[in-house]
Amino acid sequence: MTHRQGEKTLNLEDLIENVTVNLLQLAVTELPEDVKTALRNAYDKERSPIGKTQLKTILENIKLAEERRIPICQDTGLISFYLKAGSQFKDLDKIEKILRKAVMRATVKIPLRPNAIDPFIQKNTNNNTGRHVPYIHWDIANGDFLEITAFPKGGGSENMCALKILKPAEGLTGLKRFVVESVVNAGGMPCPPTIIGVGIGGGADIAMDLAKRALLRPLDEQHPNPFVVQLEQELLEAVNKTGIGPMGLGGDSTALALRIEYAHRHPASYPVAIAFQCWAARRAAARIYADGSVECLSHKNRSLL
Ligand code: SF4
Repeated sequence: MTHRQGEKTLNLEDLIENVTVNLLQLAVTELPEDVKTALRNAYDKERSPIGKTQLKTILENIKLAEERRIPICQDTGLISFYLKAGSQFKDLDKIEKILRKAVMRATVKIPLRPNAIDPFIQKNTNNNTGRHVPYIHWDIANGDFLEITAFPKGGGSENMCALKILKPAEGLTGLKRFVVESVVNAGGMPCPPTIIGVGIGGGADIAMDLAKRALLRPLDEQHPNPFVVQLEQELLEAVNKTGIGPMGLGGDSTALALRIEYAHRHPASYPVAIAFQCWAARRAAARIYADGSVECLSHKNRSLL
């Protein structure tokens, strides 16, 4: 099957590569509407004059980046992809190679800051790819589509991620204490107002994976479990009472949202992971169908071809 793009005829592999380059460009230059709305609401509600000024600057920054098609922040992040692959979608074994190629192209085209460094010899690959970078998370679904979420994540917020294996007896009280302590400890470092992902249960790896996945849930979407919704609200209010405020300079808006995902746990352990996402909460997602049609999921009415 071939597909038309402008004057060129594309095969499905080229189409996936082009869509991925465009997704990365969209992600780093334009925040999804739910994040922009949350930032505008935070600006309206902020009572601290310094906090309000910070939010005003952030909103202007976002607008300028969007108008000029330039990255929202100089740190264009370490890149991960979350894939939902239909089991009937062809050539799934080629996807990793295609995504790596797309990242290399995007690094030059947009451009992205080269952020993939060998941890032993400190050498930058200069193309945002390396061992396990971009990291690809796979979920398999029924169907003949491929859903790609590009998730470039900045280092400042990543540095404040935290993991603790609580004693089960500490329970919810220990969980709440750990969340608030982690936010206080992070202060202005993750560029607040943040989105806080909390992963609970499973093992250490599962808890952190869930915390990261929690960051991907659009801010206008509720968790299906009402207990989780209530806990998210309670913890959000608690972290916003810390007074850390926008960029850590004081104010009401320390976090835009707090999102929880959970798994059942071993009787002996109660893992809790916290992932911070800065105000530049970048993500862009698309669904590619086997017939070559493409739907942008994260930004309304956007062509990715
Ligand atoms: S934490 Fe986010 S906003 Fe702050 S410098 Fe890093 S990418 Fe930019």
